[in-house]
Amino acid sequence: MLYRWLTHLLRASLISTLCGGLVALPAAYAEQTGESDKQEVLVAELAEDENVEDVEHSDPLHSSDPEPDVPEQPEPPEQKQEASSLELLGTEVPPGTATRLAWSPAIQIAGLTQPTPVLVVNGAKPGPNLCLTGAVHGDELNGIEIIRRTMYDLEPDKLSGRVIGVPIVNLPGFQRGSRYLPDRRDLNRHFPGSTDGSLADRIAHSLFESVIRHCDMLVDIHTGSLKRTNLPQLRADMNNPDVAELTRGFDRMAVVHSTGSPGMLRYAAIEAGIRAVTMEAGESLRIQEHQIKAGVNSLTSLMDKEGMISRMFVWGDPEPVYYDSEWVRAEHGGILFSEIKLGAKVGEGEILGYVSDPITNEQHPIRARIDGRIIGMAVDQVVMAGFAAYHVGTEAEVPGE
Ligand SMILES: [Zn+2]
Repeated sequence: MLYRWLTHLLRASLISTLCGGLVALPAAYAEQTGESDKQEVLVAELAEDENVEDVEHSDPLHSSDPEPDVPEQPEPPEQKQEASSLELLGTEVPPGTATRLAWSPAIQIAGLTQPTPVLVVNGAKPGPNLCLTGAVHGDELNGIEIIRRTMYDLEPDKLSGRVIGVPIVNLPGFQRGSRYLPDRRDLNRHFPGSTDGSLADRIAHSLFESVIRHCDMLVDIHTGSLKRTNLPQLRADMNNPDVAELTRGFDRMAVVHSTGSPGMLRYAAIEAGIRAVTMEAGESLRIQEHQIKAGVNSLTSLMDKEGMISRMFVWGDPEPVYYDSEWVRAEHGGILFSEIKLGAKVGEGEILGYVSDPITNEQHPIRARIDGRIIGMAVDQVVMAGFAAYHVGTEAEVPGE
């Protein structure tokens, strides 16, 4: 069938891209996977996804003044005077070089192991270690391409610090076009993992110990699911002053407060003292040029803000946009038809879309409860009552300002 064939082709081309270096992606293929082909998937996947849980289950933001329980700012890391070699995955990467390493979680049949590529650029000058992870969920493709473009754009002799990229963390899931590991577990619920737990625990532990612990900063790149799409946005624990400061480097990126939950890579990294955020870009199983460009630009501005690279012809500080947000849910089951588009500004009471009952012909409008902007939304599909349909954000000051 056409959709499967295209997905297969896309994956094959992604693999060849990552293995072969600078081959342009056939983005057009992904854009051609039409709406009608999607429908069969959408009806089957009505469960809630992390996009909703992540925001709704977060601890509330602390008020901006006075802040008795905000921990003291840690001492700034000691500035290394000279760039040094990076010891990673049993390999020494000298300053001023870029290389490709391999990570094997050692859970497979020994003779059949398929190592996961890890891209490393060690700058000629000292600086922080920035880590980029993609496809922790194997069907989330935009991040893979964001990491490829970001890393292959770097010039090792001009970089201060190191950038470590794992474009496809969940390689088995990626190869099957699945979000999950082969045992149906969600890898992003198992960090930092353990050596004696489930398959997911062991993979998580191996990645965390052999790669993530080397990071000073981590951007874990995800997408929405096939049923929901997002403006490019960060999920960040704005109650954590180090994380709040990190978000200031992301130019033109929506930032939503979310504490995350135990088991998530971002959460485990923060627990380990690594400044970490999640980037959400677009939908799963698609390659979306607009979302990819926004992600690459924002990561570039972050590296500039952190003193790792120097962007020419850029004036002014990065400008992230902070949002308070809420999900608006469908009150009836039926078929959702949206009236508004992603990114639209909406007013309180405005109709965002309708749920149409295919049997009784009743039309149930869904209205915005606040003024704001649509920062995430469900695509048209069959929904049940309670389905989170629209993520409405209102611009907010940075907490603590
Ligand atoms: Zn994800």
